[in-house]
Amino acid sequence: MPRIPPNTRALFFDAVGTLLFPEPSAPVVYAETARRFGLPLSPHEVRTRFVAAYHAEEAADAGTDWATSEPRERDRWRRIVTGTLAGVLDPDGCYQHLFDHFARPDAWRVAPDAAEVFAALRARGLRLGLGSNYDERLWSVLAGFPELAPVCDRVLISAAVGVRKPGSGFFRAVARATECSVAEVLFVGDDVGNDYAGATAAGMPSVLLDPHDRHPDVPHRIASLSQLLD
Ligand SMILES: [Mg+2]
Repeated sequence: MPRIPPNTRALFFDAVGTLLFPEPSAPVVYAETARRFGLPLSPHEVRTRFVAAYHAEEAADAGTDWATSEPRERDRWRRIVTGTLAGVLDPDGCYQHLFDHFARPDAWRVAPDAAEVFAALRARGLRLGLGSNYDERLWSVLAGFPELAPVCDRVLISAAVGVRKPGSGFFRAVARATECSVAEVLFVGDDVGNDYAGATAAGMPSVLLDPHDRHPDVPHRIASLSQLLD
């Protein structure tokens, strides 16, 4: 079965974990920052704390039907960072340090096959775009990666949309941005809940990027972006 349904007119991609990856990894950056702010933690300890803080915020957003805004995103990240790094000296300074770090292109790397895949998809006449739950920092990150220009004509950031993934309103906004129906867009992302399940519930076909084979139960999966072209 082709990865891209035959009636597809546009592809939308998630950003973090799909096209963009923190380099060094987020747990390493958080652990190094914690150490600078007086709290020795291993990347493993950071990861455990991060997952707990992150899921608490996901639950909070589910309770508001996935409504979001720039102030909510700022608040969300502040809670995640301060929850993860509870015990640092100067929590505000520590939060700002991490916030600024992840706004810089040099904190990230791009999927190695992204440019080649975008070129091939465009050659097939498909419209491309980026749909992210990240905040307005995405703009400064994208500015550092010319290879992502093919998806930059249509960038939807949930804080600006007013509803975040997995909310159906986000995927309806994706369809509007492509001037297609929801069924004519394929959403590609690495998060089984926010991307795959969210898109599917909205009636939008989706492919899960699952390079570590964590979701064998999901019928539509790819291990790399290049497999979209199969
Ligand atoms: Mg992601």
